Amino acid sequence: MARLSLIAGNWKMHKTTAETRVLIAALRAAPLPDGVEVVVCPPFTALAAAADTLIGSALHLGAQDVFWETQGAFTGEISPLMLVDLGCRYVIVGHSERRQWFGDTDDTVSRKVHAAFAAGLIPITCVGERLEEREAEQTTQVVTRQITAAVAGLSADQLAAAVIAYEPVWAIGTGRSASGEDAARVIGLIRFLLAERHRAAAGQTRILYGGSVTAENIGQFMRHADIDGALVGGASLDAAKFAGIIRGAPRD
Ligand code: PEP
Repeated sequence: MARLSLIAGNWKMHKTTAETRVLIAALRAAPLPDGVEVVVCPPFTALAAAADTLIGSALHLGAQDVFWETQGAFTGEISPLMLVDLGCRYVIVGHSERRQWFGDTDDTVSRKVHAAFAAGLIPITCVGERLEEREAEQTTQVVTRQITAAVAGLSADQLAAAVIAYEPVWAIGTGRSASGEDAARVIGLIRFLLAERHRAAAGQTRILYGGSVTAENIGQFMRHADIDGALVGGASLDAAKFAGIIRGAPRD
């Protein structure tokens, strides 16, 4: 079965509830081409407003992080059940900004992946090397370590449903994207690693590229059969720019 292209917008720490309603209304007004699924991931504080504005739309809602416990004395954390309660279908896990600033590790990412699935959410798990790791030619090692941890213990069905985002850290928010060939090479490695666990399921896993994706460069990624879409930061904050990326996402 062909994999459906996926474009996910990571709004990071942007947009009030009022701004969220305006942006989602503008996205709803843009035509959604066949052959692409779209997810918006506003901050926690705007999820309820986003869910409300998305009623009746084909766009999906996602969150930017999740804790692995269901409830309890975990001040400031948000559980998977709370995200489901707000209408989320997806959740980003292990974004490099969480790994860099908020202590996410391969171990906590794995816990979050399992907790997301247990609650009925689909994790979009981010992996990718930092600039110094790329320059030291450690990309394969780093991505292999992150993927091995992220998919440990997943069933074949979970692996088939999972979404992975390859986001080289040096390409995030810098305006300097990876080339399509570089992204396809690492994404090919990721699919090979997934196939070592569950061969058939790995053919269903959607693997995205992320890092300075724009309407102008989405084509250089989508022309590679192994790249199933994009995780988009900056350009997802502008309806026209995000709609341009969505238009470039369906397979021919
Ligand atoms: C991201 O934050 O996941 C991202 C890819 O950001 P940007 O598109 O701005 O590089």
